[in-house]
Amino acid sequence: MLSAASEVIEKALKLAERATLCDKCFGRFFANLGYALSNETRGSSLKTIICMIASGLLSKGDQEALDVLRNVAKTGFKVARELLVRNGLEVPEVSSCELCGGLLYEPLQRLAEKAVASLLEYDFNTYLVGCKIPGSIIEKEDSIRSYLEVNWGESIKREVNREASLIIMSKTGKKPDLQRPDVLVVLDFHKMDVEIKPSPIFVYGRYRKLVRGIPQSRWSCSKCRGVGCPECNWTGKRYELSVEELITKPIIEAFEARGARFHGAGREDIDVRVLGSGRPFVVEVVEPKRRFINLEELQRRINERSQGIVEVLGLSYTDRSMIGKLKLSAKVKKKIYRALVEMEEPLKREKLEALSKYFQGTAIKQWTPKRVLHRRADKLRTKKVYEVRVVDVKDRTFEVWIKCQGGLYVKELIHGDEGRTTPSFQEVLGTKLKVLELDVLDVED
Ligand SMILES: [Zn+2]
Ligand SMILES: [Zn+2]
Repeated sequence: MLSAASEVIEKALKLAERATLCDKCFGRFFANLGYALSNETRGSSLKTIICMIASGLLSKGDQEALDVLRNVAKTGFKVARELLVRNGLEVPEVSSCELCGGLLYEPLQRLAEKAVASLLEYDFNTYLVGCKIPGSIIEKEDSIRSYLEVNWGESIKREVNREASLIIMSKTGKKPDLQRPDVLVVLDFHKMDVEIKPSPIFVYGRYRKLVRGIPQSRWSCSKCRGVGCPECNWTGKRYELSVEELITKPIIEAFEARGARFHGAGREDIDVRVLGSGRPFVVEVVEPKRRFINLEELQRRINERSQGIVEVLGLSYTDRSMIGKLKLSAKVKKKIYRALVEMEEPLKREKLEALSKYFQGTAIKQWTPKRVLHRRADKLRTKKVYEVRVVDVKDRTFEVWIKCQGGLYVKELIHGDEGRTTPSFQEVLGTKLKVLELDVLDVED
């Protein structure tokens, strides 16, 4: 016990000799000693002990004690100043803390209060505080720590974050959360400003695309690359509408967000509709000011505005992990397509029935389709067709339902892509086929 006591006091004396520190900075080098204590209390307690020790030595003219006491008095510590006065010794002027320069007092309070005011604009239940501190302070702290050779301390950042967090908690009644805070509050001591960064919100849903000719994502004009030119009528877009924009615009407005990212479970061609229960998607809402939006109402608003073009269903809150699951599932999940196919040579229904027999759990070997070769690498994939059902036959056309693995190029399954997809409907039927219409009827959840 005695040796532990002398070690603490020795280190405190060593620190007081070397640096002029405010109570908070002084105490922070002993932060791991004792609970339910502020660093400020630790600092003032240790300074008090130093003064008590020095007081007995002053009258004996101990120079070392006088030096330490002067240093402590410089920090504005009353007990030390009073001791010097009583002994008729010169009292040094008060100087600001050598380490934080006073940052932990008024500036910290001011920024924390600024944060509280800024937070009024945001919906949140939980928060986390971070800070930007001048590098010179961090370096100074490191050098004092290594001089002192103690590992009881904590960093100034931790102290700032904790102190600011307490102020915010007491003024807002909200709770800090280290894992998944609704907002991140950054106190910037360079600019003496506050940044509020709301965490993203993730909304899951399914969409139906009721008309052809609309891409899933916003498609920039290739001429001007989105800047705007006569070619695109100054819209910067190749297509006026997209599923992405129709869905995300009302979402951005409702959440008062900075933006939104659209993630679909796979995608369909522009000329392909999505019917049935629709295609799953996740919208990542970027930096939303509102967090507690009624999704049923939002769904109604989206559907009203994109009337008859796109329809969303089943909106619900989810998290980031859903995006990965969506991308993964798009490759393996079963999908049902409807196709309207034109035949060069008209075939009877009996002939067409060969398709359902042939394509029952059949593996299809497929090289990257010619039409996407300009933007995708040429590689061979194997995908499964589970079931094919011919539902209607007219003179030169037939309608067929195809249940297959996600990621299969269905148009190529039908016309064979000049032998790059095999087996194909065209190959099996022995007549040239053309896909007139294609719809996604269902995407397995
Ligand atoms: Zn300080
Ligand atoms: Zn353009």
